Amino acid sequence: MPSPEHRFDVLVVGAGFAGGVCARRMAEDYGLRVLVIDRRPHVAGNAHDAPDEHGVLIHTYGPHIFHTNAGKVTDFLSRFTEWLPYEHRVWAEVDGRIVPLPINRRTIQALHGVELGTEEETAAYLASLAEPRATLQNSEDSVVAKVGRDLYERLFRGYTRKQWALDPSELHAQVTARLPVRFNDDDRYFGDSFQQMPAAGFTTMFERMLDHPNIELRLGTEYEDVRAEVEAAQIVWTGPIDEFFGYRLGRLPYRSLHFERETRATPGGRLVQPVAVINYPNERIPYTRVTEFRHLTGQVHDFSTLTYEYPTAEGDPYYPIPRPENRELYHRYEALAAERDDVLFVGRLARYQYLNMDQVVAQALVAVERWAAARGLAGALAERTLPEAA
Ligand SMILES: Cc1cc2nc3c(=O)[nH]c(=O)nc-3n(C[C@H](O)[C@H](O)[C@H](O)COP(=O)(O)OP(=O)(O)OC[C@H]3O[C@@H](n4cnc5c(N)ncnc54)[C@H](O)[C@@H]3O)c2cc1C
Repeated sequence: MPSPEHRFDVLVVGAGFAGGVCARRMAEDYGLRVLVIDRRPHVAGNAHDAPDEHGVLIHTYGPHIFHTNAGKVTDFLSRFTEWLPYEHRVWAEVDGRIVPLPINRRTIQALHGVELGTEEETAAYLASLAEPRATLQNSEDSVVAKVGRDLYERLFRGYTRKQWALDPSELHAQVTARLPVRFNDDDRYFGDSFQQMPAAGFTTMFERMLDHPNIELRLGTEYEDVRAEVEAAQIVWTGPIDEFFGYRLGRLPYRSLHFERETRATPGGRLVQPVAVINYPNERIPYTRVTEFRHLTGQVHDFSTLTYEYPTAEGDPYYPIPRPENRELYHRYEALAAERDDVLFVGRLARYQYLNMDQVVAQALVAVERWAAARGLAGALAERTLPEAA
């Protein structure tokens, strides 16, 4: 019989968005005793941020920009953070020029040396470049059908080949299916109604989210380290789904990244790049993009840190590789997961899906609500949302 310090109602594996949201909801709304573990020495999962040796606030696992249209996501997170308005911009370096992404009127004018007066002219010009396809078989088709071969080759092909080590013709059409194109000069990367960053950083937001009397946090702790000693009727698993099942059906493949950092003196708080992220689609350049963090964080400092991203096959699991055979393998694991009533699989690794932070928060909120409803649990949330008695 485990001693009381080893007895919990819920064991949450992973202290990222999926684990953090589930833990807080279960502890606060349903009064459950929750143990949260993470193998990393910090909270916030891939959204972790911390000052580097120069005091510059950096994102440990690459740039994380918060954007959403979901009010219930911002309502939940706003309890743990103030926000700093930030509109993300990404430019690409192409043949010695720097042009905005997504493709807009200025991108086309700069790359094709044309003058486009109005949105209608821009739309008509793009339509003249597009090479319509009867069916979109792959990612190359979906981009070429929208913006034509020249822009595809200069802006997308090399970037995609570096990112995935696959040619766009080998990738599912869905990967680039929602490629936004603007006919005006709007160069904001995202179109969401809420585009703000946590004012004191993601890590601080997580520290507040996990600060609850019913939550115990153990960092630098593997699931394997605690599974024998901890007793918990429910597990929330936010790690890789294939890992949970001991890779018994094979490994789900991921693409990873290697980051190289560079810090420059920026007296007077100046910035090195004109925007936060510059993409390098050219295949002769080994990295895909360079991020200058101070654009994202709003920090004013006499140093500025940039990170160069090199896609790799080995390393932390970052991007599920969007190929049909990988999806099929995931579905076989999903079938095993469906048999485990005692385990809730939540988050990007447990669902083998690229998800933005807001999508993970929304998924976790819904997962806990459904889980509680299935068990007939009445919680503070349920009480709070009941209509007032007449
Ligand atoms: C390079 C990059 C850039 C991104 N940029 C953005 C962006 O700009 N905007 C955006 O909205 N989203 C972005 N994302 C997506 C964002 O990172 C995810 O949506 C979010 O981190 C998912 O949270 P999660 O809790 O599902 O997973 P994670 O953050 O990965 O958390 C899972 C945690 O579980 C832990 N874990 C796993 N297995 C075990 C185990 N066996 N034992 C103990 N601990 C374990 C891991 O250490 C990890 O900390 C980006 C992702 C990447 C890779």
